[in-house]
Amino acid sequence: MFLNERLKSKELHYYEALNRRCELTREEARKLSILRKGFDGEVGYDRIFDEAGHDNLLIYRDLWMKIEGGILQIDSLIITENKLIVHEIKNYSGLYSYENDGWFINGIQISEEPVAQAVRTGNKLLKLRSLLHHNFERDYKVIFVNPNFNLEIKQEKPKNIVQRSMLRHYMKELNKMHVGPRAHETALRLKDYFIDNPMELPEVDPERVKAGNYCCACGKFEMIFGRYHTKCVQCGNKETIEKMIVRAMVDFNIIFHNTPMTKEKLKRFAGMDKNERSIRRLLNKYAEKVGAGRKTAYTLEMQDLITLLNRKNYKSRYDTDNKLKTQ
Ligand SMILES: [Zn+2]
Repeated sequence: MFLNERLKSKELHYYEALNRRCELTREEARKLSILRKGFDGEVGYDRIFDEAGHDNLLIYRDLWMKIEGGILQIDSLIITENKLIVHEIKNYSGLYSYENDGWFINGIQISEEPVAQAVRTGNKLLKLRSLLHHNFERDYKVIFVNPNFNLEIKQEKPKNIVQRSMLRHYMKELNKMHVGPRAHETALRLKDYFIDNPMELPEVDPERVKAGNYCCACGKFEMIFGRYHTKCVQCGNKETIEKMIVRAMVDFNIIFHNTPMTKEKLKRFAGMDKNERSIRRLLNKYAEKVGAGRKTAYTLEMQDLITLLNRKNYKSRYDTDNKLKTQ
């Protein structure tokens, strides 16, 4: 079973928010596309695992850990009675080749070496043997999740890879492994080593960022305001003002991650100068207060809009977004 949710990384949230409100540079667009593809791959992996079954296993997804100063990022960590298994998930597509211990696409060697990456992560986990007084085995696999990934092997097949065609079978075999009290205890004790994603986000020039509100369906910044909802001039999509303001909070929070979000700043950013009361009410409902008096600022528990709305009991009968629990 999955022990935690898989949410988009803060880098992906950052570039997505930037994309909604800025003209991206070529480099930013490239990063966004890589992050999106990676996340889609992870979601695909979870879906195949759901289909194959994982009720017998304990699985953490998208982990950051710090073990004796070493930092590890793990796409998926499977805990069984005597084994920890690292899965590095790759959403490569196209024709790759493997020769002379290197990976190539269109004859050009790629900068990352997927198996070496998984080996490094797996080895860092070994330090836990002495820390947890548990002499577990560790295993690692690179999972190529995309059905359009083709690998031409010009020498011996690289070890420890699982391609899409074998993935369901591999997962079904995994689910036959034994999970008893020791695995549960390990899963619990691993939590002491979990950390928040330590990656630093870039700073953006505020001049580049467009304030105001945009349509959640087509992205255009032209909205007609009703009493409780807005309508897009371009595509006619309707959205509640509440959800639109929460999205502005999320955008502000992630784009200006080093600037405290005050009520005044949010008001200007969301283009809601006349809606002092709704802004205050929504900040109190969706955000956490930091500081007091004129320095009062607000932070958000998370950057994922839909999860945030669901957790804070957002309710609206106007919404048609089926990812929202309450409609
Ligand atoms: Zn629209």
